[in-house]
Amino acid sequence: MDILSQWLVIEKLKTGDMAPIKFAILTVSDTCAKNEKTDESGAALKQLINDIYNTKDNRQGKVVCFETVSDEVSLITKILTDWSDKKIANVILTTGGTGFSNRDVTPEATKSVIHKEAPGLSVAMLMSSLKITPMAMLSRAVCGIRNQTLIINLPGSPKAAKECFSAIAETIPHAIDLLLDNKEEIKDTHNIVQHDISTCSHNKFYINTNAATRLRESLFPMVSVEEAVDEIVRSAREENKTEVEVIDANNAYGRMLYDEVYSNCHLPPFRASIKDGYAVLASDGKGKRKVLCGVKAGASDIPVVLVPGTCVRVNTGAPIPDEATAVVQVEDTKLVSKTSDGIEEDEIEIMIEPKEGQDIRSIGSDIEKGSLVLETGTYIGVAEMGLLAACGNYKISVQKRPSIGILSTGDELQETGMPLEPGHVYDSNKITLISLLKENNYDALDFGIAVDDEIIMVDRIKTAIEKVDILVTTGSVSMGDRDLLKPILEKHFEATIHFGRVNMKPGKPTTFATCLYKNKKKYFLCLPGNPVSAFVTAHLFVLPLLRYLQFDISESIVVVAKMSSYYALDERPEYVRATLKWEIFDHYPIAYITGNQISSKLLNCKRANALLKLPKRTKSQLALQEGDFVPAILISKMTYK
Ligand code: AMP
Ligand code: MG
Repeated sequence: MDILSQWLVIEKLKTGDMAPIKFAILTVSDTCAKNEKTDESGAALKQLINDIYNTKDNRQGKVVCFETVSDEVSLITKILTDWSDKKIANVILTTGGTGFSNRDVTPEATKSVIHKEAPGLSVAMLMSSLKITPMAMLSRAVCGIRNQTLIINLPGSPKAAKECFSAIAETIPHAIDLLLDNKEEIKDTHNIVQHDISTCSHNKFYINTNAATRLRESLFPMVSVEEAVDEIVRSAREENKTEVEVIDANNAYGRMLYDEVYSNCHLPPFRASIKDGYAVLASDGKGKRKVLCGVKAGASDIPVVLVPGTCVRVNTGAPIPDEATAVVQVEDTKLVSKTSDGIEEDEIEIMIEPKEGQDIRSIGSDIEKGSLVLETGTYIGVAEMGLLAACGNYKISVQKRPSIGILSTGDELQETGMPLEPGHVYDSNKITLISLLKENNYDALDFGIAVDDEIIMVDRIKTAIEKVDILVTTGSVSMGDRDLLKPILEKHFEATIHFGRVNMKPGKPTTFATCLYKNKKKYFLCLPGNPVSAFVTAHLFVLPLLRYLQFDISESIVVVAKMSSYYALDERPEYVRATLKWEIFDHYPIAYITGNQISSKLLNCKRANALLKLPKRTKSQLALQEGDFVPAILISKMTYK
């Protein structure tokens, strides 16, 4: 079965309009029951269920009840029997009371109510937990079935409860189908399993979350920044598919023109005065003229005919009489006499010798009707927008823009807006990247934060690539045991990883991958999580990818700058944030490095208008000195005093 058909089967299974799986969560804890502690595990499981089962294209699941009891067999059994006998839930998750302490009795209570055991689930959870900690072997969790309800014991800590449930979450829908005898769905799942889809035997990467046995050296060869960009260009060009759309010219700012644009009118469309003054016959030379009338800009006809000795008063941009051969600016004239009411000029004197054609814009002298104004492949910037309007183009063909989304990854991340929870940091990467893209005329979609969990990450990535062509992620590409992104892309999306390590500082783990999803090429730029690394690599890799996908061959501006101070070179080529300042009489801008260059410190990106491209340290060059010249990639148009 090819990958597309496999997806289709999965889709069918997942998106059928079946009743959502009902979950009930029972927190077993003396302290929580007495309100001495908040129930974090119950809340974490509720959130996890929401994350796993509530995306558009997943089998739906919802938490229907939520209760806390103390570690008493009688209380636990009462609730378990109540919830299962009254068919309140398909799955009851208990959290807490599975350990070795005196009060831990959840497994005993569970055993006393279940009709059948389901040891496979406990084993799966145990195997997965043992990869994280050997302490997992002290769990006595029991899983079993009462009537049509599945009862699962989970550990008491929020982290362990989430990890255990994640290990079995994928199989829950099928377990429920079996309990409820949902024949169609059972058949579909068997179909998948027989074709070995869910296990994805092709994967080159084993997703190993075991800290002890994880790889200690990246499998990916180190490529240079130049090689990495070449790879991005090659991959973007491979597509070589021009998708075009016709849009309103007023919305064309920042787009790449597909068709040539010709002028729909002459510019100016009539003979126009360049000055405020008088339209005259140049052959009359200097001397007095009778003022026949005044013509303002916008006048549609001129009610007089110029004859020798006469003139017409005109404003800048006003049409001039057909007979006029020059315009004399008002500064070169004198008033001779007024009309009897004293309001109008009657006669003026021309003080200079007018030249033929002086201060007249002839028809089409700026742009001729039908002439080529903008070539195919032109970037539509500020001036181009003006030209489109001036030439009367209302609709134009432009390259379709690739759609782009941002996803942050990390267990520790929190959206802004609420007080920080312990062990958490606010997600700053997403908004940084969204803003960088906004600055470059892209509206990026925000796909939120994915915790470092295989099921959740797969789900989030899938949701994203349903909607966008390019997914930019941050985090989860380093060497930690929770850095799952590369293996996930290979295992679940059959992605090709074009590079997974770049010889640069910051940004070494930057990864570029592509895959075919529903017959469409999708691009993944997986940036490191450190905020400065994400900032730098977005400039160096994300923006070029976007440009190349639109056939935009423009490049960042690189200038030569002079170091303001000593700087020790790194063993990798480094992209150092700096503020360039231009002094009027200096040929070169001076580069002021923005303080400590540590990659977690976003403050060093503040006011940075350039990335200094510094070479790696060699035996003969250990540092740069004040006054040394370096290439500087401009990343902002601003200069600061
Ligand atoms: P990682 O690349 O996932 O190993 O993360 C490296 C560092 O970057 C850790 O200190 C993370 O807490 C931090 N980090 C990762 N993602 C973000 C983010 N979206 N916003 C702020 N810091 C982040
Ligand atoms: Mg991380």
